[in-house]
Amino acid sequence: MVSLALGRRSAAAASGRPSPFRLLVANRLSALGLAVLVAIAALAVLTPLLPLPDPDVTDPAQRLLRPGAEGALLGTDHLGRDILSRLLWGTRVSILVGLSATAIAALAGSLIGLVAGYAGGATDSVLMRGIDLVMAFPYILLALGIVAVLGPGLLNALYAIAIVNVPFFARNIRGITLGLARREFVDAARLSGASHPAVLFGEVLPNVLPTIVVTMSTTVGWMILETAGLSFLGLGAQPPQADLGSMLGEGRKLLFTAPHVSVIPGLMIFALVMSINLVGDGIRDVLDPRLKSGALAAPGAATAVRRDTIPDAPAPGPVLAVDGLRTEFRTGDRVYKAVGGVDLTLAPGERVGLVGESGSGKSVTALSLLRLVPTPPGTITGGRVTIGGDDQLAASDEALRRLRGGRVAYVFQDPLTTLHPLFTVGDQVMEAVRAHQPLSARAARARAIELLERVQIPSAAARFDAYPHELSGGMRQRVCIAMALANDPELIVADEPTTALDVTVQAQVLKLLRSLSEERGSAVLFITHDFGVVSELCDRVAVMYAGRIVEIGPTAEVLAAPAHPYTAKLIDCVPVLGQPERRLDAIEGLPPAVDRLPEGCAFAERCPFAEARCRDGDISLDNLSGDPLSGDPLSGDRAARCVKPLWGEA
Ligand code: ADP
Ligand code: MG
Repeated sequence: MVSLALGRRSAAAASGRPSPFRLLVANRLSALGLAVLVAIAALAVLTPLLPLPDPDVTDPAQRLLRPGAEGALLGTDHLGRDILSRLLWGTRVSILVGLSATAIAALAGSLIGLVAGYAGGATDSVLMRGIDLVMAFPYILLALGIVAVLGPGLLNALYAIAIVNVPFFARNIRGITLGLARREFVDAARLSGASHPAVLFGEVLPNVLPTIVVTMSTTVGWMILETAGLSFLGLGAQPPQADLGSMLGEGRKLLFTAPHVSVIPGLMIFALVMSINLVGDGIRDVLDPRLKSGALAAPGAATAVRRDTIPDAPAPGPVLAVDGLRTEFRTGDRVYKAVGGVDLTLAPGERVGLVGESGSGKSVTALSLLRLVPTPPGTITGGRVTIGGDDQLAASDEALRRLRGGRVAYVFQDPLTTLHPLFTVGDQVMEAVRAHQPLSARAARARAIELLERVQIPSAAARFDAYPHELSGGMRQRVCIAMALANDPELIVADEPTTALDVTVQAQVLKLLRSLSEERGSAVLFITHDFGVVSELCDRVAVMYAGRIVEIGPTAEVLAAPAHPYTAKLIDCVPVLGQPERRLDAIEGLPPAVDRLPEGCAFAERCPFAEARCRDGDISLDNLSGDPLSGDPLSGDRAARCVKPLWGEA
C-alpha cells in the first residue's frame, strides 16, 4: 500500500500532474472543510495536554454559568461541569467512535463484497441474501434493536452503527468486484498460477481500494451523526462520560433557560460532520477516475473553438479543405498541441492516407474535422475546416449534427466498441439510415439489407437479426462500413479501420473500401500507421509527425522516393514480400511529447541528417521541385517540411 502510494506520487511528479492533495485543496469547499477538520482534530488530539478542568467533576454552586464566565470559557452545564472541557473530551469520543465504526464497517463490508463478487455462484447468493436481510429493516430501527439486545453503552452503540453500515460497503464493493473479476488481467493472474487469495488481494483489491476510501470518507460523517443520535436517546455514552450526542441530549431539557448547554455541542456536531462531508466529497472527486477524466463535466455537443484569426475561404471544389487546423488539450497548466497546424485538401472521390506513428495526432485531426474532440479538455485554437463550402468550425450544433453521418461518415478502429452490444446489427444500420432520411421502418429495413449486401455480408437478410458478438471481426467492420455508407457520404473518414483485423481480412476490407469509393465517388480520408495499407488504397499520402504534416504527395512517388527522412524511415519499417534479406529498421528514439515540442523540426532529435539549422525557427511545408525519378520538373503536388530533403529543392 505504502509503496504503491509512493510510487504513484513520484510518477505524478515526473509527469507534472498536480498531486492529489493539490487537487483536493483546489476545490475551495473541500479546502475549507479540511481547514475546519484539521483544527477540530488538532484540538481533539491535544485535549489531554490542555489545562482543562476534569470534565466529569460536578460543582452545583457553579451550575449553568453563561459562556465567558470567570474560569469557564464556554460556561457550565446543569451539574456545574465545565462545558469547554466536556466538549473537547466529548469530541474526542465522538470522532473515535465514528472512525472505529467506519473502519469496522468498511473492513467487514468490503471483505464480504470482495468475496461475494469474486467467488460468485452460491457463495455470492448466501452472502448477499444475508446483506439483504440486514437492509430489509430501516437502519436506525435496526441500530436501536441491536443496542436493545446488547444493552446501552458506547461500545454497543459503536457495534450497532458498524453493523447497520456493513451493507453499504458490501453492495458497493461487490458490484465493482463483479466487473473486475472477469477482466483479462485477472484471468492472466489466474493463468499464471496465483492462488485465489493472491488474485483477490493482489489484483482485485488495489482496483477497489479507491472506492473503499471514497465510501469511507463519505460515510464517516454520517456514522458520527448516527452515534450521536443513539447517545442523544440515552443508548450510547452513559453518564458521566460525555460525547457530543449525550451532551446535546442533556442540554435539550434546558433549551429555553440555558440554550448554550445544547447549542454548543450542536454547533460542534454541525462543524464536524459538515467538514468531514466536504473533505469526503473532495476526496471522491480526486480519487474517482470517472470524475478525474471530466465525466461529470459533460462534454458539449461540439468541440469548443477559440480562434484568433480565421483563414480565408478556399477556392470551391474540394470535398474537404483543412487550413491551418490546430487542436490543443489543456490539463492543469499543461497544453498538449496534439494538432499543430494541418493543411489538407481532398478532391471528390480522392483517397488520401494519413500516416504516422501512434500519438502523432491522426485521430485528433480526424475528430476535429466535425468537432468531435471532447471539450474539456480539447479546444480547436486555429484554422478552418471547409466542407460543402461552409466553415465547419463556425457551424451550429444542428448543422454539425446533419453533417455527421450524413455528408461525412466515420469508421473507427474497433467495431466491437462502436457497435451497441444490445441491438442487432440490422437495427443499428437502420438507425443510421433513419437518422438522416425520413423513411418508414419497412423502407429503412429494405435499405439496411441492401447496404449489408453492398458490403458483401453473405446472406444479409439472415444476418440482419444477428447481434454484434455473433459476427466475426471482419463482418463487424463491414457492418460499420455499411452504417457509414447509409446516407451516401461525400467523405468517409476511416480511423485505422483494419488495425484490429488479421491480414487476410484486412486485405478484403481494403478492397471493399476501394471498390465502394470508386463506385460511389466518395472521398476517403484513411488513417493508418502502416505504409503497406496506404499503398493498396490511397492516391495520395500525408505523413504526420508530432501534430503536423511533414510530407505529402502521390503515394507511388512518395514510396519510390521519400523526401523527408522520417518518411524514409517509416517506409523502411514495412516488410516486403520476397525480400527476406531486407533489414527492417526501427526508428530510434521516441516522438517528442506534444506539450514540450522543440524549436524547429520535431524530428531533428531522431534524424540522422540533422544540422544546426534544423533546430532553428519554424520550418514550413514547401513544395518540392524536380522529379526524383525522371529529373523532370514536378507537377507541384509534392511537399515536405524539411530544410534538407533527401532529394529536390525545398
Ligand atoms: P494517433 O496519431 O495515434 O491517432 P492521437 O491523435 O490519438 O494519436 O493523439 C495525439 C496526441 O494527442 C497524443 O500525443 C496525446 O498526447 C494527445 N491527446 C489525445 N487525446 C487527449 C486527451 N483527451 N487529453 C490529453 N491529450 C490527448
Ligand atoms: Mg489514433
